[in-house]
Amino acid sequence: MGIKGFQGTSLLDFPGRIASLVFWGGCNLTCPFCHNSTLVLDPEAYPDLDPAELLADLAERKSFIDGIVVSGGEPTLDSGLLPFLKDVKSLGLAVKLDTNGLAPQVIAELIDRQLIDFLAIDLKTTPERYHELHSGVVSADKFIETLRLCADAPVELEYRTTCVPGWVDEDVVVKLGELIDGAPLWVLQQYHPEHALCAEAQEVTPYSSEQIQSFAEIASRYAQRVIVRGV
Ligand code: SF4
Repeated sequence: MGIKGFQGTSLLDFPGRIASLVFWGGCNLTCPFCHNSTLVLDPEAYPDLDPAELLADLAERKSFIDGIVVSGGEPTLDSGLLPFLKDVKSLGLAVKLDTNGLAPQVIAELIDRQLIDFLAIDLKTTPERYHELHSGVVSADKFIETLRLCADAPVELEYRTTCVPGWVDEDVVVKLGELIDGAPLWVLQQYHPEHALCAEAQEVTPYSSEQIQSFAEIASRYAQRVIVRGV
């Protein structure tokens, strides 16, 4: 748990904004295809960053950044997230949260308190298979609760799916599309197996760009805008 990484400036991770990236350690999933395996499996390999020092750094940068991206790991697991974001917002910075969506209560509270401006929620596979993403208990109901509460949330919203063979195919795209029907933005990403958490997932051959484009065509029946990344 805790803040484990900081990157001062990024143009890529917060659409339309220049942002700093803040990474949390730990996760409530162990997706075989995860590309942040050390942050997930061994967060203590990284020293905790002091939130007060980070806030001082952000205060110095606020003249040339628009906001921060909160990513991980899974940041919603840390009770220190809310007070940290309160301080970030008091600096006048926008906040984007990257989440797997398994903590709807936390996400609802952050929305209610106007502590996030942009939400990026992973759609990894159908909810029926979420239990396969971790050796412990995974509540797909909580994931669906997050999708419901975010449908009308007063924040910018992006759903993201990494197109991992074996986890995402045409049927999965249809089922996920039905869950987020009418969503403003759905991003389909190419899978890069090199740093996957599980050895088997490192051996998976990614889909061709044509195949991902065909997934995007299906996705466009459900989302107002579909973007393909990484192909
Ligand atoms: S892919 Fe995301 S949700 Fe899955 S283990 Fe990695 S950080 Fe956690």
